Amino acid sequence: MAIKCFVSECAEDVTGQCPGLAEEPCGHFYCGSHSRGKLCDECAAVQEQQNLFQEYCTVAEDVYKVSPGLNILWGIMFGTFPLCIIGIVVESLWFFILIGVGSFALSIVIFLYIERQRKKRLLRACEKYENFEEFYGEYKKQANKAAMFSMIAKTMDFTSDMLSSDPVQASDVRRIRQRLERMD
Ligand SMILES: [Zn+2]
Ligand SMILES: [Zn+2]
Repeated sequence: MAIKCFVSECAEDVTGQCPGLAEEPCGHFYCGSHSRGKLCDECAAVQEQQNLFQEYCTVAEDVYKVSPGLNILWGIMFGTFPLCIIGIVVESLWFFILIGVGSFALSIVIFLYIERQRKKRLLRACEKYENFEEFYGEYKKQANKAAMFSMIAKTMDFTSDMLSSDPVQASDVRRIRQRLERMD
């Protein structure tokens, strides 16, 4: 049996075999026009989606955390407040009242600052990445992997609609989408 390109309607010469992705071996034989690097078109598209997903996660983490140092500082300031309340009750010293009020006020200032930075970063990310606000909402809810993949699937539905005038490309997108779903 002659070795053929994995795209059924393709008659071009085979130039290699796809090793697949780390968690999903492939084995497709491909031609020059149905491959990218060492991967077949299909695996390359899945890889691209995975990379994009990783990028979204990294950006979402950056928006959510803002600054680990500031978060720790906020925790210390906010934690000092109840300690001072105890100090006020037990010792009734002005010293504790001053520190208590000071740390509480400072913790509010830091909190507001973090929130403002978060909004700025979110806005910037929304300008750059499609559907990022929804993605970030899901991220915040600490959505599981399945929910994240359904976000990607939704984006791909949109893409296949866009390409629907080209039936071959649209069916490629649907096939890749089905593979993504199986990876849940
Ligand atoms: Zn081909
Ligand atoms: Zn492949």
